[in-house]
Amino acid sequence: MQRIALLTSGGDSPGMNACIRAVVRKAIYHGMEVIGINRGFNGFIEGDMGPMNLSSVADIIHRGGTILHTARSEQFLTPEGRAKAYENVKRFGVQGLVVIGGDGSFRGASVFSREFGLPVVGVPGTIDNDIPGTEQTIGFDTAINTVLEAIDKIRDTATSHERTFIIEVMGRRNGSIALASGLAGGAESILIPEQPFDYEDICQRLLRGFRRGKAHSIIVVAEGASGGMEVGQRIKERTGFDTKVTILGHLQRGGSPSAADRLLASRLGAKSVELLMAGETRKMAGVKAGQVVGVDIDEALNESRPVDLALYDLAGVLSI
Ligand code: ATP
Repeated sequence: MQRIALLTSGGDSPGMNACIRAVVRKAIYHGMEVIGINRGFNGFIEGDMGPMNLSSVADIIHRGGTILHTARSEQFLTPEGRAKAYENVKRFGVQGLVVIGGDGSFRGASVFSREFGLPVVGVPGTIDNDIPGTEQTIGFDTAINTVLEAIDKIRDTATSHERTFIIEVMGRRNGSIALASGLAGGAESILIPEQPFDYEDICQRLLRGFRRGKAHSIIVVAEGASGGMEVGQRIKERTGFDTKVTILGHLQRGGSPSAADRLLASRLGAKSVELLMAGETRKMAGVKAGQVVGVDIDEALNESRPVDLALYDLAGVLSI
């Protein structure tokens, strides 16, 4: 393999840049050329791509976002759009493709590989930690640390004013961010889409805490479980407590990647190049039992990635 291409796709996540750096440098180390594709599959279709070298990826390991930019592409969902992208594969002499993104991006990459026979390897980059076949995705650790920092700051003001704070975090279908940050942040209740919840139970917990002199309460809500405003309103109606709502939003996607995410991004990025060099296709570089491995993309996409309900139960016990 002489020349590979690389793109980032779907939602951006902190550590994508560290991963781009790893892919480019590892490939160059092994004597290959690298083509960077801008704006995900849109740039692939439009031919918005060009060569990268060692200095293209200098000074980016610590930066959030992605220097290649990312996009969601309606056109890539169509056979015509993908055929245009294949024209660029031929034009630029691309022999393998690395896609850094979420499960949607891997579906696109897999379809493309089947249609045109181009070897593709995925690297899981999403803050949601919702990709089957890997224990961790690039960006999750940074995102939960960002949320934790917010929880700690809100706790200070919650204590001073004796208020109940509701913090809404990202996670439309998956409660991983809420669960990890809520447990680490000592939240009273954690609401996630995977578990039904009951306002009576939430309010009883708050009242129990209040009766034993607790000065503040924090409830972490994944956006897919309920809107933070709605939760705040319902609790206020039932308890009479002054509830304040904070919606963290896109703040959770940004920021300098944590050490754990930089390490993960570097390891997975390098592994993706190794997989292409070994002649593999439709694989994802992932982590299993702490080891970096190649996982079959299609198999991974057919599985589901449940949240760790043991953490949910533990959070319930520790916030009694
Ligand atoms: P995140 O989880 O962070 O949102 P993602 O990779 O899952 O990231 P999606 O928006 O689901 O984000 O997918 C990114 C892009 O992948 C889509 O905009 C589309 O271009 C392409 N894609 C997704 N599914 C398919 C598919 N079945 N066939 C072809 N292309 C697809």
